[in-house]
Amino acid sequence: VSLQLHDLTFSPFISEETIDRAIARIAQELKRDFNGKEPLFIGVLNGSFMFAADLLKKLDFPLHISFVKVASYEGTKSSGTVSELIGLKEDISGQTVVLLEDIIDTGNTLEELYEALQKKGVAKTKIATLLYKPKAYTKKIPIDYVGLEIPNDFVVGYGLDYDGLGRNLPAIYKLKE
Ligand code: 5GP
Ligand code: MG
Repeated sequence: VSLQLHDLTFSPFISEETIDRAIARIAQELKRDFNGKEPLFIGVLNGSFMFAADLLKKLDFPLHISFVKVASYEGTKSSGTVSELIGLKEDISGQTVVLLEDIIDTGNTLEELYEALQKKGVAKTKIATLLYKPKAYTKKIPIDYVGLEIPNDFVVGYGLDYDGLGRNLPAIYKLKE
């Protein structure tokens, strides 16, 4: 049962059931830590839309939800890229934020997001990700809630794309060697 997207072939890797169990566990941990605190959950688009929807449905306490996109561009200084959060209209200063990511690989994206949130004056940023590649991660920022650790394979499905395709798949597939 392999899957063709553009020029690449993928094979089944993580089932819907396994994803659901991982999300249920994260939901329990979040309930333990944030029940009664009315946190703001921020999903990072596009990849986290499915994870955010399935996770937040499992949380039965009052909370806020927003989504952002990250626009990266070269800054005027030589220090590399600058990231801007698109879509966040709320004043989030002083709030406790839980960032929802589909996947954390090197952590570059996460670090940029984290710094952008710090600049907006959030009190505390916690990180929840469905997938995490520990062998690829190069940053110091602690990742507080992890669904599943995976090897350094390229995966698609459940929100993750290959060149625009595959986000709608309910399970996760990996690139066939
Ligand atoms: P990082 O900045 O942590 O290296 O990479 C994070 C971003 O790279 C993710 O938000 C995602 O868009 C993309 N990415 C990293 N690994 C994968 C993968 O295995 N599959 C897909 N589809 N995207 C990935
Ligand atoms: Mg992507």
